Amino acid sequence: MGLMTGKKGIILGVANDKSIAWGISKKLHEEGATLAFTYLNEVFEKRVRPLAESLGADLILRCDVSKDAEVEGAFLEVEQKWGHLDFLVHSIAYAGRDELRQPFVQTSREGFRVALDISAYSLIGVTKAALPLMKNGGSILTMTYLGSTRAMPNYNVMGVAKAALEATVRYLAAELGEKGIRVNAISAGPIRTLAATGISNFSEIFGIMENRSPMHRSVTTAEVGNSALYLLSDMASGVTGEVHFVDTGYNIAGL
Ligand code: NAD
Repeated sequence: MGLMTGKKGIILGVANDKSIAWGISKKLHEEGATLAFTYLNEVFEKRVRPLAESLGADLILRCDVSKDAEVEGAFLEVEQKWGHLDFLVHSIAYAGRDELRQPFVQTSREGFRVALDISAYSLIGVTKAALPLMKNGGSILTMTYLGSTRAMPNYNVMGVAKAALEATVRYLAAELGEKGIRVNAISAGPIRTLAATGISNFSEIFGIMENRSPMHRSVTTAEVGNSALYLLSDMASGVTGEVHFVDTGYNIAGL
Protein backbone atom coordinates (compact mmCIF):
# COMPACT_ATOMS: atom_id res chain seq x y z
CA MET A 1 0.00 0.00 0.00
CA GLY A 2 1.36 3.40 -0.99
CA LEU A 3 0.33 6.80 0.33
CA MET A 4 -1.65 7.44 -2.88
CA THR A 5 -3.15 3.99 -3.41
CA GLY A 6 -6.75 4.34 -4.62
CA LYS A 7 -6.34 8.01 -5.50
CA LYS A 8 -6.84 9.41 -9.00
CA GLY A 9 -5.35 12.67 -10.18
CA ILE A 10 -4.57 14.80 -13.20
CA ILE A 11 -1.15 16.27 -13.99
CA LEU A 12 -1.00 19.45 -16.10
CA GLY A 13 2.44 20.61 -17.19
CA VAL A 14 4.66 17.74 -18.26
CA ALA A 15 6.73 18.89 -21.25
CA ASN A 16 9.52 16.30 -21.05
CA ASP A 17 11.43 14.17 -18.55
CA LYS A 18 13.12 17.28 -17.09
CA SER A 19 9.78 18.85 -16.12
CA ILE A 20 9.01 19.41 -12.45
CA ALA A 21 5.60 17.85 -13.17
CA TRP A 22 7.37 14.68 -14.31
CA GLY A 23 9.36 14.45 -11.05
CA ILE A 24 6.07 14.78 -9.18
CA SER A 25 4.33 12.21 -11.42
CA LYS A 26 6.97 9.55 -10.88
CA LYS A 27 6.72 9.91 -7.09
CA LEU A 28 2.90 9.80 -7.09
CA HIS A 29 2.96 6.71 -9.32
CA GLU A 30 5.49 5.02 -7.01
CA GLU A 31 3.04 5.60 -4.15
CA GLY A 32 0.14 4.00 -6.00
CA ALA A 33 -1.69 6.94 -7.64
CA THR A 34 -3.58 6.53 -10.92
CA LEU A 35 -2.65 9.43 -13.17
CA ALA A 36 -4.14 11.31 -16.12
CA PHE A 37 -1.94 13.71 -18.09
CA THR A 38 -2.51 16.74 -20.29
CA TYR A 39 -0.31 18.25 -22.98
CA LEU A 40 -0.29 21.70 -24.58
CA ASN A 41 -0.39 20.74 -28.30
CA GLU A 42 0.77 18.08 -30.81
CA VAL A 43 4.42 19.12 -30.48
CA PHE A 44 4.32 18.36 -26.76
CA GLU A 45 2.10 15.32 -27.21
CA LYS A 46 4.97 13.45 -28.90
CA ARG A 47 7.06 13.71 -25.72
CA VAL A 48 4.28 13.49 -23.13
CA ARG A 49 2.44 10.43 -24.49
CA PRO A 50 5.31 7.91 -24.11
CA LEU A 51 6.17 9.27 -20.65
CA ALA A 52 2.55 9.05 -19.52
CA GLU A 53 2.17 5.54 -20.93
CA SER A 54 5.32 4.44 -19.09
CA LEU A 55 3.36 5.14 -15.87
CA GLY A 56 0.34 3.20 -17.13
CA ALA A 57 -1.78 6.26 -17.98
CA ASP A 58 -4.60 5.82 -20.46
CA LEU A 59 -6.11 9.30 -20.07
CA ILE A 60 -3.76 11.58 -22.01
CA LEU A 61 -5.58 14.73 -23.01
CA ARG A 62 -4.96 17.89 -24.97
CA CYS A 63 -5.42 21.00 -22.82
CA ASP A 64 -4.19 24.47 -23.68
CA VAL A 65 -5.19 26.30 -20.49
CA SER A 66 -5.67 29.57 -22.38
CA LYS A 67 -8.68 27.97 -24.13
CA ASP A 68 -11.79 27.41 -21.97
CA ALA A 69 -13.18 24.82 -24.40
CA GLU A 70 -10.03 22.66 -24.12
CA VAL A 71 -10.09 22.87 -20.31
CA GLU A 72 -13.77 21.90 -20.22
CA GLY A 73 -13.21 19.11 -22.77
CA ALA A 74 -10.32 17.58 -20.83
CA PHE A 75 -12.23 17.50 -17.53
CA LEU A 76 -15.33 16.15 -19.25
CA GLU A 77 -13.27 13.20 -20.45
CA VAL A 78 -11.96 12.64 -16.92
CA GLU A 79 -15.54 12.74 -15.63
CA GLN A 80 -16.71 10.22 -18.23
CA LYS A 81 -13.83 7.83 -17.53
CA TRP A 82 -13.37 8.17 -13.76
CA GLY A 83 -16.42 10.02 -12.41
CA HIS A 84 -14.32 11.71 -9.75
CA LEU A 85 -10.91 13.23 -9.05
CA ASP A 86 -8.83 13.25 -5.85
CA PHE A 87 -6.02 15.62 -6.82
CA LEU A 88 -4.75 18.02 -9.45
CA VAL A 89 -1.21 19.23 -10.19
CA HIS A 90 -0.91 22.59 -12.01
CA SER A 91 2.69 23.02 -13.17
CA ILE A 92 2.28 25.55 -15.96
CA ALA A 93 3.71 28.97 -16.71
CA TYR A 94 4.38 31.07 -19.77
CA ALA A 95 5.61 34.55 -20.62
CA GLY A 96 6.64 35.87 -24.02
CA ARG A 97 10.36 35.90 -24.77
CA ASP A 98 10.50 39.71 -25.00
CA GLU A 99 8.94 40.13 -21.58
CA LEU A 100 11.76 38.10 -20.03
CA ARG A 101 14.54 39.98 -21.84
CA GLN A 102 13.49 43.62 -22.06
CA PRO A 103 13.63 45.95 -19.06
CA PHE A 104 10.56 45.30 -16.87
CA VAL A 105 9.29 48.82 -17.53
CA GLN A 106 8.90 47.89 -21.22
CA THR A 107 6.40 45.09 -20.42
CA SER A 108 3.61 45.31 -22.97
CA ARG A 109 -0.09 45.22 -22.09
CA GLU A 110 -0.51 42.07 -24.20
CA GLY A 111 2.61 40.43 -22.70
CA PHE A 112 1.26 41.11 -19.22
CA ARG A 113 -2.15 39.71 -20.13
CA VAL A 114 -0.78 36.51 -21.62
CA ALA A 115 1.64 35.83 -18.74
CA LEU A 116 -1.04 36.41 -16.09
CA ASP A 117 -3.65 34.42 -18.04
CA ILE A 118 -1.57 31.29 -18.58
CA SER A 119 0.49 31.38 -15.37
CA ALA A 120 -2.08 32.54 -12.82
CA TYR A 121 -5.69 32.66 -14.10
CA SER A 122 -5.34 29.10 -15.38
CA LEU A 123 -5.26 27.82 -11.79
CA ILE A 124 -8.76 29.27 -11.31
CA GLY A 125 -9.90 27.88 -14.67
CA VAL A 126 -8.76 24.32 -14.01
CA THR A 127 -9.97 24.38 -10.40
CA LYS A 128 -13.43 25.45 -11.59
CA ALA A 129 -13.44 22.55 -14.07
CA ALA A 130 -12.20 20.05 -11.44
CA LEU A 131 -14.63 21.14 -8.73
CA PRO A 132 -17.63 18.99 -9.74
CA LEU A 133 -15.30 15.96 -9.80
CA MET A 134 -13.92 16.53 -6.29
CA LYS A 135 -17.11 15.37 -4.58
CA ASN A 136 -15.25 13.82 -1.67
CA GLY A 137 -12.78 16.67 -1.25
CA GLY A 138 -9.43 16.90 -2.96
CA SER A 139 -5.98 18.41 -3.08
CA ILE A 140 -4.74 20.94 -5.63
CA LEU A 141 -1.08 21.89 -6.01
CA THR A 142 0.62 24.57 -8.10
CA MET A 143 4.24 25.59 -8.65
CA THR A 144 5.63 29.02 -7.82
CA TYR A 145 8.97 30.81 -7.38
CA LEU A 146 10.58 33.33 -5.00
CA GLY A 147 10.39 35.96 -7.77
CA SER A 148 6.80 36.51 -6.53
CA THR A 149 7.97 38.42 -3.47
CA ARG A 150 11.54 39.45 -4.42
CA ALA A 151 12.62 41.30 -7.55
CA MET A 152 14.76 38.82 -9.49
CA PRO A 153 16.78 39.99 -12.51
CA ASN A 154 14.89 39.24 -15.77
CA TYR A 155 12.09 37.32 -14.05
CA ASN A 156 10.00 40.44 -14.68
CA VAL A 157 6.33 39.86 -15.49
CA MET A 158 6.64 36.24 -14.41
CA GLY A 159 7.28 37.50 -10.86
CA VAL A 160 4.04 39.49 -11.05
CA ALA A 161 2.25 36.39 -12.35
CA LYS A 162 3.64 34.27 -9.49
CA ALA A 163 2.47 36.90 -6.96
CA ALA A 164 -1.02 36.62 -8.50
CA LEU A 165 -0.76 32.83 -8.47
CA GLU A 166 0.13 32.74 -4.76
CA ALA A 167 -2.77 35.09 -3.94
CA THR A 168 -5.01 32.83 -6.04
CA VAL A 169 -3.90 29.85 -3.93
CA ARG A 170 -5.02 31.66 -0.77
CA TYR A 171 -8.39 32.78 -2.17
CA LEU A 172 -9.17 29.33 -3.55
CA ALA A 173 -8.07 27.68 -0.30
CA ALA A 174 -10.27 30.02 1.75
CA GLU A 175 -13.30 29.35 -0.43
CA LEU A 176 -12.95 25.62 -1.01
CA GLY A 177 -11.85 24.57 2.47
CA GLU A 178 -15.40 23.79 3.58
CA LYS A 179 -15.73 21.36 0.67
CA GLY A 180 -12.65 19.51 1.92
CA ILE A 181 -10.59 20.78 -1.01
CA ARG A 182 -7.08 21.94 -0.12
CA VAL A 183 -5.02 24.28 -2.34
CA ASN A 184 -1.27 24.72 -1.87
CA ALA A 185 1.83 25.84 -3.75
CA ILE A 186 5.41 24.65 -3.78
CA SER A 187 8.01 27.37 -4.28
CA ALA A 188 10.88 25.51 -5.93
CA GLY A 189 14.47 26.63 -6.21
CA PRO A 190 15.86 27.00 -9.75
CA ILE A 191 15.87 23.74 -11.76
CA ARG A 192 17.14 23.29 -15.34
CA THR A 193 13.92 22.73 -17.32
CA LEU A 194 12.51 23.89 -20.64
CA ALA A 195 10.71 26.81 -18.99
CA ALA A 196 13.93 27.85 -17.21
CA THR A 197 15.71 28.31 -20.55
CA GLY A 198 13.38 31.28 -21.16
CA ILE A 199 15.01 33.22 -18.30
CA SER A 200 18.06 34.86 -19.89
CA ASN A 201 20.42 34.81 -16.88
CA PHE A 202 19.14 31.52 -15.47
CA SER A 203 22.65 29.98 -15.18
CA GLU A 204 23.81 32.90 -13.07
CA ILE A 205 20.75 32.67 -10.76
CA PHE A 206 21.31 28.90 -10.53
CA GLY A 207 24.99 29.36 -9.58
CA ILE A 208 24.25 32.00 -6.93
CA MET A 209 21.59 29.76 -5.42
CA GLU A 210 24.01 26.82 -5.25
CA ASN A 211 26.64 29.00 -3.54
CA ARG A 212 24.45 30.82 -1.08
CA SER A 213 21.64 28.51 -0.07
CA PRO A 214 22.09 26.96 3.38
CA MET A 215 22.52 23.51 1.79
CA HIS A 216 24.91 24.79 -0.94
CA ARG A 217 23.20 22.93 -3.75
CA SER A 218 20.22 23.08 -6.04
CA VAL A 219 17.07 20.99 -5.67
CA THR A 220 15.98 18.11 -7.91
CA THR A 221 12.59 17.40 -9.43
CA ALA A 222 12.56 14.23 -7.30
CA GLU A 223 12.82 16.37 -4.15
CA VAL A 224 9.95 18.54 -5.35
CA GLY A 225 8.10 15.27 -6.01
CA ASN A 226 8.60 14.18 -2.39
CA SER A 227 7.14 17.43 -1.04
CA ALA A 228 4.32 17.28 -3.58
CA LEU A 229 3.49 13.78 -2.34
CA TYR A 230 3.13 15.15 1.19
CA LEU A 231 0.88 18.04 0.11
CA LEU A 232 -1.27 15.91 -2.19
CA SER A 233 -1.67 12.97 0.19
CA ASP A 234 -3.67 12.70 3.42
CA MET A 235 -0.40 13.37 5.30
CA ALA A 236 -1.16 17.08 4.75
CA SER A 237 -4.90 16.78 5.54
CA GLY A 238 -4.73 19.86 7.77
CA VAL A 239 -2.66 22.03 5.42
CA THR A 240 -4.15 24.52 2.95
CA GLY A 241 -3.35 27.93 1.45
CA GLU A 242 0.39 27.39 2.00
CA VAL A 243 3.41 28.31 -0.09
CA HIS A 244 5.91 25.60 0.84
CA PHE A 245 9.56 26.25 -0.09
CA VAL A 246 11.60 23.43 -1.62
CA ASP A 247 14.75 25.43 -2.32
CA THR A 248 17.52 24.07 -0.05
CA GLY A 249 16.66 27.01 2.24
CA TYR A 250 17.63 29.83 -0.13
CA ASN A 251 14.60 31.94 0.83
CA ILE A 252 15.69 32.24 4.48
CA ALA A 253 19.23 33.39 3.75
CA GLY A 254 20.07 37.05 4.44
CA LEU A 255 23.44 37.09 2.69
P1 NAD B 1 8.50 22.94 -18.13
O1 NAD B 1 8.82 23.72 -19.36
O2 NAD B 1 8.92 21.54 -18.09
O3 NAD B 1 6.94 23.04 -17.80
C1 NAD B 1 6.15 24.14 -18.14
C2 NAD B 1 4.87 23.58 -18.72
O4 NAD B 1 3.93 24.62 -18.99
C3 NAD B 1 5.10 22.84 -20.05
O5 NAD B 1 4.63 21.51 -19.93
C4 NAD B 1 4.23 23.61 -21.03
O6 NAD B 1 3.64 22.77 -22.01
C5 NAD B 1 3.18 24.17 -20.10
N1 NAD B 1 2.40 25.25 -20.71
C6 NAD B 1 2.84 26.47 -21.13
N2 NAD B 1 1.80 27.14 -21.66
C7 NAD B 1 0.71 26.35 -21.57
C8 NAD B 1 -0.66 26.47 -21.94
N3 NAD B 1 -1.14 27.57 -22.56
N4 NAD B 1 -1.50 25.43 -21.68
C9 NAD B 1 -1.06 24.30 -21.10
N5 NAD B 1 0.23 24.12 -20.73
C10 NAD B 1 1.09 25.14 -20.96
O7 NAD B 1 9.18 23.76 -16.94
P2 NAD B 1 9.09 23.61 -15.35
O8 NAD B 1 10.26 24.35 -14.83
O9 NAD B 1 8.87 22.20 -14.96
O10 NAD B 1 7.81 24.50 -15.00
C11 NAD B 1 6.71 24.03 -14.28
C12 NAD B 1 6.26 25.06 -13.25
O11 NAD B 1 7.28 25.18 -12.25
C13 NAD B 1 6.04 26.44 -13.82
O12 NAD B 1 4.92 27.03 -13.16
C14 NAD B 1 7.30 27.18 -13.40
O13 NAD B 1 7.14 28.58 -13.30
C15 NAD B 1 7.51 26.55 -12.04
N6 NAD B 1 8.86 26.74 -11.45
C16 NAD B 1 9.97 26.40 -12.15
C17 NAD B 1 11.22 26.59 -11.58
C18 NAD B 1 12.47 26.24 -12.35
O14 NAD B 1 13.55 26.73 -11.98
N7 NAD B 1 12.42 25.41 -13.36
C19 NAD B 1 11.33 27.09 -10.29
C20 NAD B 1 10.16 27.41 -9.58
C21 NAD B 1 8.92 27.23 -10.17
